[in-house]
Amino acid sequence: MIPDGMAVATGCRVRIPLRNRDSTGTVLEVGPPPQTNYNLRLVSKLIDPDPLITPQLMKLGKWIAEYYVAPLEQVMRALLPESVRQEMHSEKTRKIVEIKEMPDAEALEKLAKRAPKQHIILKLLESNSGMMSLKDLGGGSVTAAVKSLVKKGHVVLKEEAVRRDPDEDQEFLESAPLKLNPEQVVALEKIVNPATNDKGIPKPILLLGVTGSGKTEVYLQGVQHALDQGKSALILVPEISLTPQTVQRFKSRFAALHDQVAVLHSHLSQGERFDEWHRIRKGEARIVIGARSAIFAPLTNVGIIIVDEEHENTYKQETSPRYHGRDIAVLRAHFEKAVVVLGSATPSLESFQNTQSGKYELVRLDQRADSQSMPIMRVLDMRIEAQKQKGRLAILSDKLRLSMEKKLENGEQIILFLNRRGFARSLQCPPCGYVCECQHCSIPLTYHRTEDRLMCHMCGYQSLPPKKCPSCGDEAIRLQGFGTQKVEEVIQKVFPQARMARIDADTMRRKNALRDTLNKFKAHKIDIIIGTQMIAKGLHFPNVTLVGVLNADLGLQVPDFRAGERTFQLLTQVAGRAGRGELEGEVIIQTFTPHSPSVQFSRHHDFDGYAEQELQFRNKFLYPPFAHCALLGTRSTHERRAEFTLENLHKRLKKDLPPQVELGEPMPSPLTRAHGQFRYHLMLKSTSARALHQHVKRILTATPPPDDVTIVFDMDALGF
Ligand code: ADP
Ligand code: ZN
Repeated sequence: MIPDGMAVATGCRVRIPLRNRDSTGTVLEVGPPPQTNYNLRLVSKLIDPDPLITPQLMKLGKWIAEYYVAPLEQVMRALLPESVRQEMHSEKTRKIVEIKEMPDAEALEKLAKRAPKQHIILKLLESNSGMMSLKDLGGGSVTAAVKSLVKKGHVVLKEEAVRRDPDEDQEFLESAPLKLNPEQVVALEKIVNPATNDKGIPKPILLLGVTGSGKTEVYLQGVQHALDQGKSALILVPEISLTPQTVQRFKSRFAALHDQVAVLHSHLSQGERFDEWHRIRKGEARIVIGARSAIFAPLTNVGIIIVDEEHENTYKQETSPRYHGRDIAVLRAHFEKAVVVLGSATPSLESFQNTQSGKYELVRLDQRADSQSMPIMRVLDMRIEAQKQKGRLAILSDKLRLSMEKKLENGEQIILFLNRRGFARSLQCPPCGYVCECQHCSIPLTYHRTEDRLMCHMCGYQSLPPKKCPSCGDEAIRLQGFGTQKVEEVIQKVFPQARMARIDADTMRRKNALRDTLNKFKAHKIDIIIGTQMIAKGLHFPNVTLVGVLNADLGLQVPDFRAGERTFQLLTQVAGRAGRGELEGEVIIQTFTPHSPSVQFSRHHDFDGYAEQELQFRNKFLYPPFAHCALLGTRSTHERRAEFTLENLHKRLKKDLPPQVELGEPMPSPLTRAHGQFRYHLMLKSTSARALHQHVKRILTATPPPDDVTIVFDMDALGF
């Protein structure tokens, strides 16, 4: 309960005596006291006179808790950075000495004789427009002299907040806006004057522009327009460290407003994060660039939200609350009545379908702005290569090896991609490329070693692994796979002279590791980069003339209906990486399935063709965007407990299952054991998101798990 006269508002933090101590909490709602048998407590202290969480963000938080079935408390944690919530890092300050009143000439002369130090200080201050930090004046050695000057009324000593600027060591030169080409003019016009729905709220815009079509320039001018209107702007990028060039372009364009740009990312120290957050909240920073969680930046008066590379999986949060940053961006824009621009060369089918149904506006940039040609794409049939090498799995085809030799001789650079997604293993036949699939779900079956079974991770179908390939009868069908580390070893042997670097989650843990490696690559201190999809994003290296994709099928073999979409995206993005300078680019794609739609459509840079056939497939099997998929999982150090708890939940979910909801069978996850925990899961599918999350919530609330089992619920799960 609120004591009389205390102005408590939604989004403020308060202290309340619970048990024997004061606890801090965030006010979710203000209203008359509820009827309850509990003993209601009075708020003992109001911590924030102004709410820390704006009403729009509070609304967003409640929506997230409901939709993703996450405890509101967890959502509040996501809304406020740790350092802000706990007030662990107060502002950093420094002492400033400023002239208040200079002594007259006579007095100054006296001072020079009697107290030369004070005289020097005044002279120094005078030549520095009357103000200097105590530290620059000499710190401890001058404190006494400064104090005397304060006493005499000649100077004042002030404290000033210092911003912990994460980009302190970098300089940004201002870049002028470019003159837009006709396509860009149309795109900008649609952003500046967006179509609205019947409530006057701007319709979300999907900006579908090929790589190099000048999307970023359109974003920049869209942001400028919002600023001109006195509004603020929010720009989401997949991951700051992977998109340094995009961030740099924003910083340069708005260099004159340097102090109004805030950059939020995971490598900020707690103190830096605290400062950036407060600068945004006070309205000092009106442009925010950040990764996923920046969607909760405490901006007010938001005019535009941009989601760059909107198809990227990194926008999905992998721990509770498991929200999707892009979807939350669309929702926040709606609450703020702001325009939202989702940009990509390979949009997610979810977003694309929304343009087809009329919910979003589709805006296209079909021409490259830099008038460079697309690189030559060569597709190499690895089935032939496998025959040459007698069924052994080849890492490098002759063709790719020869091409690499030539580029290295010419002093040009190479990027090799290995699209490796962890642990899921499928069965593929090297001579013919056949992959064992589920008849019902059309996704690859996953091999489970302990049971020696093939399992479908959508519906639970199981079968024995075949001894011979069902398609060509060859006995070479087997488990396969190689990681970036193995590839590095092989390449090093083939090209002992080449300077190489590997970029993946393992090698890039250190802060700035990626930036340093990419800078080295740019300075041509590295010849070959081997990396996962981490490096497929908006990078630009003029001297890279060859991009090799080592095994395009790895993406197709994961038990996920989105595997084809991901492969198409990766190949198309990769193609945009080669030949971005004067030199002609070449892309070599090694694959066992040269005729798959992902490979063929990306080869011809044909998003529309790809989307059309992929949407047909999704519609036929009722996959997103035509239905919602969710994953319910259990984790425990006791395997039986994880399994049993899920089976129990499954039984309860099955009872009065709403008609729109489909329920899969419980099974071990592809990654059956991680961090000492056994993992089981089941899939849920529904044309109604609401019916799905409501049903799950009801069952989960009524069935608390045993202490040693953790429940995971992932609404609109991206990986299975
Ligand atoms: P995208 O974000 O779509 O990949 P970019 O914005 O990076 O494309 O643009 C690709 C290149 O074209 C950049 O070097 C950019 O400076 C240049 N560019 C973009 N718009 C124009 C324009 N209107 N006139 C000239 N060059 C442009
Ligand atoms: Zn199936």
